[in-house]
Amino acid sequence: MRVVLLGPPGAGKGTQAQIVAGRLGVPAISTGDIFRANVSGQTDLGKQAKEYMDAGDLVPDEITVAMVRDRLDEPDAKAGFLLDGFPRTIAQAEMLRDSLAEQQLRLDRVLELVVDEEELVRRLSGRRMLVDGKSVQRDDDKPETVRHRLEVHREQTAPLSGWYEQQGLLSRIDAIGAIEEVTERLLAALGR
Ligand code: AMP
Repeated sequence: MRVVLLGPPGAGKGTQAQIVAGRLGVPAISTGDIFRANVSGQTDLGKQAKEYMDAGDLVPDEITVAMVRDRLDEPDAKAGFLLDGFPRTIAQAEMLRDSLAEQQLRLDRVLELVVDEEELVRRLSGRRMLVDGKSVQRDDDKPETVRHRLEVHREQTAPLSGWYEQQGLLSRIDAIGAIEEVTERLLAALGR
């Protein structure tokens, strides 16, 4: 199965991507995680991405698309994948469609996690992640950056939902509720 998980920052994409991908037996591919790993490892890609990430902006399409192309070429993604945080622009979505089409493949479904903005701000400002056993706030979860990331999402990423809807691929999923409830809604939309 080839699935895209859409939704604003704080909707629970990362959490749900891990669980749903596990249930489907496909890799969860998170562009944010790949970028963060490259920033920590101080690779060239990480150095290119860092300033955009810290500002809460999108990393330019050329950089992101090349990275995703390489990741999807790896053997574990051949039988399917669940993309988390990609595509985030129409140009990225077109690249994904075209590169799958070259292999006579297409997406099976696009799942959009729907959460109202007030709840997102609340979730993001309280969010912590574990680094070396310590609970820390992500640099881009600071209140000013959160507001900017939501704006970037509204302007550049939200249009994807209508774009995929026109293609008959979109399922909108209410992402308020217990993690397990949301997982069941996502799996039901995939016919599982
Ligand atoms: P995330 O973990 O998905 O919230 O991503 C964290 C940050 O990584 C974003 O705010 C962007 O700076 C960058 N990023 C992740 N995915 C993409 C993408 N598909 N296109 C551009 N930038 C991205």
